[in-house]
Amino acid sequence: MATKYVYFFGNGDAEGDESMRPILGGKGANLAQMAKAPLSLPVPPGFTISIDVCQEYYKLGKKYPAGLDAEVAKYLNKLETTFGKKLGDENDPLLVSVRSGAAESMPGMMDTILNLGLNDKSVVGLANKTNNPRFAWDAYRRFIQMYGNVAMGVDHDKFEEIISSVKAKAGVKEDTELTTENLQEIVAKYKEMYKKEKGEDFPQDPQVQMWGAIGAVFGSWMNERAIIYRKLNNIDENVIKGTAVTVMAMVFGNMGETSGTGVAFSRDPSTGENHFMAEYLINAQGEDVVAGIRTPMDISALEKQQPEIFKEISTIRDRLEAHYHDMQDMEFTVQEGKLFMLQCRNGKRTGPAAVKMAVDMVAEKMITKEEALLRVKPDQLDQLLHPQFEAKALKSAKPLASALNASPGAGCGEIVFTADEAVAEDKAGKKVILVRKETSPDDIAGMYVAQGILTSTGGRTSHAAVVARGMGTPCVCGCSDVVFTGKDTVTIGGKEFKKGDYISIDGSTGKVYGEVIPVTPASVSGDLETFLSWADEVRNASVRTTPSGKTVKGFDVLANAEQNEAPQAFRFGAAGIGLCRTEHMFFEEPKLTSFQKMIISDTTEERKANLAAILPLQQKDFYGIIKTMEGRAVTIRLLDPPLNEFVQAETPELAAALAKKLGVSVEVINKKYSELNEHNPMLGHRGCRLAITYPEIYETQVEAIARATAQAEKEGLKHDVRIMIPNVTTFAELKQIRAQAEAVIANVNKELGTSLKFQIGSMIEFPRAAATANQIAEYADFFSFGTNDLTQTTFGFSRDDYSKFIDSYLDQKVLLQDPFKTLDEDGVGVMIGLAEEKGRAVKADLHLGICGEHGGDPASIALCYKLGLNYVSCSPFRVPAARLAGAQAVIKSNK
Ligand code: ADP
Ligand code: MG
Ligand code: MG
Repeated sequence: MATKYVYFFGNGDAEGDESMRPILGGKGANLAQMAKAPLSLPVPPGFTISIDVCQEYYKLGKKYPAGLDAEVAKYLNKLETTFGKKLGDENDPLLVSVRSGAAESMPGMMDTILNLGLNDKSVVGLANKTNNPRFAWDAYRRFIQMYGNVAMGVDHDKFEEIISSVKAKAGVKEDTELTTENLQEIVAKYKEMYKKEKGEDFPQDPQVQMWGAIGAVFGSWMNERAIIYRKLNNIDENVIKGTAVTVMAMVFGNMGETSGTGVAFSRDPSTGENHFMAEYLINAQGEDVVAGIRTPMDISALEKQQPEIFKEISTIRDRLEAHYHDMQDMEFTVQEGKLFMLQCRNGKRTGPAAVKMAVDMVAEKMITKEEALLRVKPDQLDQLLHPQFEAKALKSAKPLASALNASPGAGCGEIVFTADEAVAEDKAGKKVILVRKETSPDDIAGMYVAQGILTSTGGRTSHAAVVARGMGTPCVCGCSDVVFTGKDTVTIGGKEFKKGDYISIDGSTGKVYGEVIPVTPASVSGDLETFLSWADEVRNASVRTTPSGKTVKGFDVLANAEQNEAPQAFRFGAAGIGLCRTEHMFFEEPKLTSFQKMIISDTTEERKANLAAILPLQQKDFYGIIKTMEGRAVTIRLLDPPLNEFVQAETPELAAALAKKLGVSVEVINKKYSELNEHNPMLGHRGCRLAITYPEIYETQVEAIARATAQAEKEGLKHDVRIMIPNVTTFAELKQIRAQAEAVIANVNKELGTSLKFQIGSMIEFPRAAATANQIAEYADFFSFGTNDLTQTTFGFSRDDYSKFIDSYLDQKVLLQDPFKTLDEDGVGVMIGLAEEKGRAVKADLHLGICGEHGGDPASIALCYKLGLNYVSCSPFRVPAARLAGAQAVIKSNK
């Protein structure tokens, strides 16, 4: 049997359903699902040409596979019979829309053509048949415009110029005020302009029109904005392989006052609240709502004007949610009082909305907690941790205008009027607010860098609003108090602004301010807290078998934090601190001066004296962290970086200043500087190597840790402090350093009458450490994988220099991922696996975790789970996302 390329839907039946997204695309699959029982919703009939054809089309050099034309002809025939009208009929023409749809929705990214089938003759037939010449001519002018622009590449502005000139001549403002004669004039001018532009007449044959439109939709898969969209949204072209084309009977929202078109969300996509949200335009076609050309009315107005339609669409909302178990984004059209469904899909939503819906739907018993946890992307949580205006500054600020709160969060920046300006200013390090009449897909790059987006027209479902929500960028739209007065000027609520002036917008309240309002970060609370507590439950309850056959329970998220960040880590729900870098504590005065004096010392005694000055200060830092963490793990890494980072003397001025500060001669500084200067400091005298040469450094740090812990214990505070040794390459380093540390701890215990014990563990950050992990494990209570260094030394890529070539590697697909962002499973992952196996062969329940940057990356977190690590540790800001990503790794591996 020949391959089937075309699938029918309509009249209460369909050849496909929602499970066929990979073949029919999201739009085609859901139209089929809505059309057939049990939903049996009013969907105009049509057919979908499969995504396979799109692939073939590109494989064959933009040609269709053999047999497609016959199959399309057959299905067009079926559509004509079902609908009772024929394409091109001069008295009663069938009109169709030709629509795109990939397996993953890409709203507004590809092209749609409406009213196809009209020509100079059938427009008259349509006018007579409907007794509505105005409608017929409006449909025809829209078709010429869309077909001319989308299929034939005639510049959009050329059409707009003609409309504007006719409007001006007629003295009207709105498109809806144009008369039949005006529209006829527009059509004539459009056709004239089209002929001039294309060198041929506008096509009159509906077959030519239809194939032209089908080609345009397949062609749009590779247009620039679709390609950029896929890139920005990480849509993999090996998975989402093309677009389908749906050809379906037109229904008309532009037939008068009892007609209209709308977009609806079954819940609020911005806040997640469980209330029906729809926007409706009377006497209009679908595109008008989405393009933001007119500001639509909201659902309550529809309820008043057409209560039966409101009731019907509300019922459909409930049925679709019950069917899909998710929030639905629906497109509908009302033709002379009769409702038609034109699209439904799982709606895009902001991070806050995603969390609220997930929590609510669990409460409504619509989904399970596990399903809820898979509904939210870890990165979306960033949006809940979005900046807000400083409460005090906000109180004294006076809004200039207020409009639709289309995408939450607060933004402050300089006004720019075009996407290009936004990109340029962003490059120059400026923060910007993009202010526009409306946005279009061409503006994506500018919208991406903006702190906020403000538009003067368009509703909650306008392009600006939908895209801003997807990006998590604050957006206020439909603000009629924004009036453009020139190329670089605007008035907002009557006040004048130029490009570069500061404004602030609040996408949660819809308010616009003509001043700088400082912004502050948010915290974990409310629904997010509930949601993340489920993530914790799932991770805590998890049990897995590691590749080496060991059983591991639980999977924790810790934070990389020092004393200043510890409160933030605690608030964001970190189970402890997996990496406390002590070197930053040395960079603060007066510790820095003492430490620098220690570095330039020539004798052990001098070094000890200077370290002694630092000890009480470090003790205070450690005590603060222990107290903040309330008994959760605090893993303190002893000094890691090379000493030259503390001695800045590369210029004579710096050397002189340092000499003066430390009270020594410039010669002493210069001599020390050249001694410390290394060819490759990352592989130089650093980490535990320093403690082999100068044991007193680590001994001082251990003493500070022990005294801080003793102090906490005396005050009745809980504590769980662990000591971590960096840069270990052989067990002998750890053996020696451990013995020295234990001696120090014993002395403190003796002096203070305590009996403190500390876990002492090793970082694993070099291949040799992984290869000898069995030996190291004899002296280590835990391992922490320093995956930044481990990646650097496994690849032999310098972390400080790899940016020179990584882009070429990624562009040429020599590497598929940046190994410093996403843990490399095949190489670095094998090192971790080796250490896991060898380490746990010696100590079966050896505690393992990672503390590199990878700890906040969802894919890396999943790999750590698979490899049997007990925890990941990441920056405090990533902790909420990591708590979720960890739970998702558990749920997916249980499936
Ligand atoms: P997108 O993928 O950009 O949302 P669509 O294919 O959904 O594009 O089409 C855009 C608009 O055109 C929709 O809002 C819809 O209302 C309108 N439309 C599409 N097909 C029809 C049709 N058969 N009858 C009436 N309106 C239609
Ligand atoms: Mg659509
Ligand atoms: Mg390291």
